[in-house]
Amino acid sequence: MFRKKEKLQSYINQVWRLFKVALVMMLVLAVVLGNRYLEADAKTTMSEQELDSSLLSLSEVYLPGTIYDKKDNVLMFGSEPGKLSWMSDKKSNSLERLIGGTDYIKAVETGNVRMTILGMVPELLGESDSRMDEKSLFHPNQRRIGGNVKLTIDADLQNFIEDLLIENGYMDSSVMVSNFQTGEVEAAVCLGGDSSETVFSRKFHPASTMKLAIAASALEYDANLANFSYTCKGNNTFTLDAEGKETVSVHCSGGNVHGTLTTMELAMAQSCNGYFIALAQQVPEEILRKNLKKFGFDDVMHFGSFKFNDNTFMGESENAYDLVYGCIGQGQASVTTIGLNMYTNAILNKGVLAEPHFILGSNDKREEPMKAKTQAVTRQMCTEEVADSIKNMMVKVMREGTGRDFAVDGVEMAFKTGTGEEGDGKTQTLLVTGGILNENKPYSITVCLNHINGGSSVNAGLIAKEIVNRLVTEE
Ligand SMILES: [Zn+2]
Repeated sequence: MFRKKEKLQSYINQVWRLFKVALVMMLVLAVVLGNRYLEADAKTTMSEQELDSSLLSLSEVYLPGTIYDKKDNVLMFGSEPGKLSWMSDKKSNSLERLIGGTDYIKAVETGNVRMTILGMVPELLGESDSRMDEKSLFHPNQRRIGGNVKLTIDADLQNFIEDLLIENGYMDSSVMVSNFQTGEVEAAVCLGGDSSETVFSRKFHPASTMKLAIAASALEYDANLANFSYTCKGNNTFTLDAEGKETVSVHCSGGNVHGTLTTMELAMAQSCNGYFIALAQQVPEEILRKNLKKFGFDDVMHFGSFKFNDNTFMGESENAYDLVYGCIGQGQASVTTIGLNMYTNAILNKGVLAEPHFILGSNDKREEPMKAKTQAVTRQMCTEEVADSIKNMMVKVMREGTGRDFAVDGVEMAFKTGTGEEGDGKTQTLLVTGGILNENKPYSITVCLNHINGGSSVNAGLIAKEIVNRLVTEE
């Protein structure tokens, strides 16, 4: 009887001990899981503005896939979870910016990841991979590798342009080369400034390249304005109010006096500031603003891979002074490199903007064939007739106007030049934008040289000339 009691007591003690151990284990588990949950929650809050939190947690598990350029050169490959390494020593710094760096989490922390390749191609981090398939369930410890991506970028061209700019001392500059028929971006170089700056974020006054959009907006309103006549006195005065009490004087660049210009074509070739301000005044302000929205000014353009709202004509301003200066791309007017390249493309492509894109194809798993990325979004920026007449004006710029000094023999080119005054009143932004008119080489080139002391838009034109030479001689 006594023995039985003892046995029972020891049995109860054993159960109690086991229960205590289980209790401690559960407590430990709760702390660990709780912590993880809190961490995950903190990341969600951090990334909410720009990025799915799921991608961040994927970047801790998945090795990124491989990034190829358009010619199948391997540019970068996943070296550890969330991290990429360059394939060769000769790497393009500007391309690294465009891709978003080598570290996914760091890219998220800089806040710009959506406007980088990393942000545009979540497949790279295995976003579409399934961990619940048979193979994954039976091999829980296998390395997880994201899909591969093929870019539209020609890495050799990107390197060529980057070297060209550095050799010429243009350390703050940006250049975009794209196919204006398909929207494929061949090169997107941005040097200087903040280390995360790209063609999406580099902003500047469009200066006289604004005249392309002003000309299109005027012709959309009234085709007869192609024959609008204006006499430039060098320093031209415009009224800012109905009574004519307030006036502003705007001079033409380089101290030029253009005299009587009987057509828009002549004014475009000479880039007369007075002409384009007077021309814009022939269009009711609300119609001018409405037509400029089609070119992305003070509007939002929605594309498959990004949203664009970075071209400004007047912004929030209702100021008559800003209206006058906006017409020559100064005042409140600003564009990004890609924004300027986009309306250039539409003009060269019958008024139709093909969505600019950077990805040719990708796969969800590296062993699968790549799927082509089709870009369905197009945007009619102006009518075909208007686009073609502006394109012809840009041809004239190269033959008889401000583009003569960077024309390439035997190549039909259409460009517009621009020289923008920067905020400090000392330095300038030198610009050219345009393209090659050749069915086999339908490329546009936008060159922007920032913070230049002296020189003219021809400096930017000579960079474009080197790029044109390379593009037309390449097989
Ligand atoms: Zn003039």
